[in-house]
Amino acid sequence: MKIMKFGGTSVGKPERMHQVKDLITRDSQKKIVVLSALSGTTNALVGIGDALAEANKELAKERIDALHKHYLTFYKELLKTDGARTKAEKIIKEHFEFLNIILKISFNEAINRDILAQGELLSTKLFYTLLQELDVPAVFLPALDFMSIDENNEPELHKISEKIKVILSNYPDDRIFITQGYICKNHRNEVDNLKRGGSDYSASLIGAAISAEVVEIWTDIDGMHNNDPRVVDKTRPIAQLSFDEAAELAYFGAKILHPASIWPAQQYNIPVKLLNTMEPDAAGTTITAKEQGAGVKALAAKDGITAIKIKSSRMLLAYGFLRKVFEVFEKYKTSIDMITTSEVAVSLTIDDLSHIKEIVKELEVYGTVEVDNNQTIISIVGNMIAESKGSVAQIMNCLQDYPLRMVSYGGSRHNVSLLLDAKYKNDALRSLNNGLFEWN
Ligand code: ADP
Ligand code: ASP
Ligand code: MG
Repeated sequence: MKIMKFGGTSVGKPERMHQVKDLITRDSQKKIVVLSALSGTTNALVGIGDALAEANKELAKERIDALHKHYLTFYKELLKTDGARTKAEKIIKEHFEFLNIILKISFNEAINRDILAQGELLSTKLFYTLLQELDVPAVFLPALDFMSIDENNEPELHKISEKIKVILSNYPDDRIFITQGYICKNHRNEVDNLKRGGSDYSASLIGAAISAEVVEIWTDIDGMHNNDPRVVDKTRPIAQLSFDEAAELAYFGAKILHPASIWPAQQYNIPVKLLNTMEPDAAGTTITAKEQGAGVKALAAKDGITAIKIKSSRMLLAYGFLRKVFEVFEKYKTSIDMITTSEVAVSLTIDDLSHIKEIVKELEVYGTVEVDNNQTIISIVGNMIAESKGSVAQIMNCLQDYPLRMVSYGGSRHNVSLLLDAKYKNDALRSLNNGLFEWN
């Protein structure tokens, strides 16, 4: 069985949904099709939740109505027969009635997550209606019946696997299954989600849960590019990446993949392919366990980073100091991305500021603490960078004009990470693009 995940732009227009139908019916292989919300919908739902959180019901209502209008146009272009249109009207009515009811009750975080789930529920139901109209046999699998996360918001892969296998065993002869990306149930049995961009993660988790042959991530670009195409003009797709390289790029900001989406596939050794819905025959990127080629393959940048420096001439040399520092972060469930040490200070970075005040207060017990916000990590990823002669010199050469706050090298063979002020990010990415890759 294979997994085919289609992102927001791949289902965001009626003609694209028809294209998705063509792609999933090109071969007769059994497949689970994972869909995101139509592009723009999750952002709109976030906007509705934000308005309600500020108790601005008028604005929330305005936003609900604007989104509703979009869907009323969308389904008429998507579907042609009266029967299918009637079904779609019912689906849209049900979900927008739900949003309008929320306007009348008191708002909380659990309701907000219910709001966010509407996008994937709508896209999959509308797509399923299209398949019915076109007589394409398919089974609708509600993700909320099998996708779950625990009290630490970690996916419960074993439970997911058990549940989905039981469900699939009810349909031995069916070939196409449609389900939602992004949404899941949490340990309180409430509707929850795998965070923004989480449909990739859903696809990889489902792939791992059923030991799929391949997880295909269909999007609006022909694979992982060597640099961020939103920032740099000249970029090119990378044919092959190892799981480790892809995981580093995803974690350090390559938006094409959700940061956590590689580990489930890696754990079960399932190839992941990044493919372009608009150019289905382009090679895209294949991600497997194989480590190939040497030298720099790609760069990615992660914004919204905060650097924390703890300076203590008295404490640092004492053994156990780093453990005490790490324990503070562990206590507040805040993960550390980069770390560098000197004799008198340790610097590290985080991207989650939910507990920054408490963390700083507790660290001050061990020394003086400095906090720098608005930093960016640029991660340079490839195979055996650490062993390749001159590659670090080449990287530094490109960055002569930018003050580097931190440099992390040697932690893995695949990665060199740099921290600099966010204002230098775009220029630094461009300079590295020109200096590290050959362009003719
Ligand atoms: P989807 O809606 O299909 O999940 P996303 O918008 O989440 O698509 O991801 C695809 C986008 O990721 C591309 O359009 C591209 O602008 C952006 N992107 C950022 N970095 C990279 C990269 N290194 N390679 C390819 N795409 C990237
Ligand atoms: N619809 C969700 C989002 O926009 C999940 C996804 O697209 O992967 O974040
Ligand atoms: Mg995405």
